[in-house]
Amino acid sequence: MELKIFDSHAHYDDESFDEDRDKVIEEIRNEGVIGVLNCGSSIEGARASFELSKKYDFFYAAVGVHPEYADKVNDEVLKEIEDMTSFHKVKAIGEIGLDYYWESNPPKEVQKEAFRKQMNLARKLNLPVVIHDRDAHKDTLDILKEFKEVNGVVHCFSGSPEFAKECLKIGYYIGFTGVVTFKNAKKILEVAKEVPLNRILLETDCPYMAPTPYRGKRNQSNYIKYMAEKIAEIKEISIEDLNNQATQNIKRLLNMEL
Ligand SMILES: [Zn+2]
Repeated sequence: MELKIFDSHAHYDDESFDEDRDKVIEEIRNEGVIGVLNCGSSIEGARASFELSKKYDFFYAAVGVHPEYADKVNDEVLKEIEDMTSFHKVKAIGEIGLDYYWESNPPKEVQKEAFRKQMNLARKLNLPVVIHDRDAHKDTLDILKEFKEVNGVVHCFSGSPEFAKECLKIGYYIGFTGVVTFKNAKKILEVAKEVPLNRILLETDCPYMAPTPYRGKRNQSNYIKYMAEKIAEIKEISIEDLNNQATQNIKRLLNMEL
């Protein structure tokens, strides 16, 4: 049986796809991928995600500015993001959040301000959010709690099982990448054990995070079957059931028909 895969987080606008983007997208469609949420990480990435969702029937867009570019978030940018959401295939605000890992990123206060402004926009527009959190678990959670009406996913989850429980408590979904298939994966598998089936999302974060056996290579959405296989094993259910559940979850989050 072929899996009907929905990739909840991808970057097909990345330059690593410039040579063969159309070909790869056709290939993943033939491999059973029925949906892709392409996420903007800069305002240019948001525009590109918007364009991809116009071009391909199974592509949807999240529009937002990643913390790496937090210093670029101003009224004009927020207005452009808001304008893009009037297209029906723009389904979320993202990716937004905090990244304290890279010293070259804007200062924490600048990141927090850009994050809050985009959370505020999501609340106003009644859209879910795609959250990026790297080495900023506490501050991320504190800000999410300020916006109780907003729901979303903590993508490429990198926290502890305890932090996952805190995110689940406020209604968020947990995004799993190819990391679950890595030989040295331990913490993320403990997280997978804790997250109920109705809160699991599968994502590539492509071109990054390719699962074993493609680790280190360019990632693409049909490889999600390897993540589904690993998590299904942990949950002791079939790959098909795990994948179907994850597909339903992302559709529910994006307010799409199940
Ligand atoms: Zn991403």
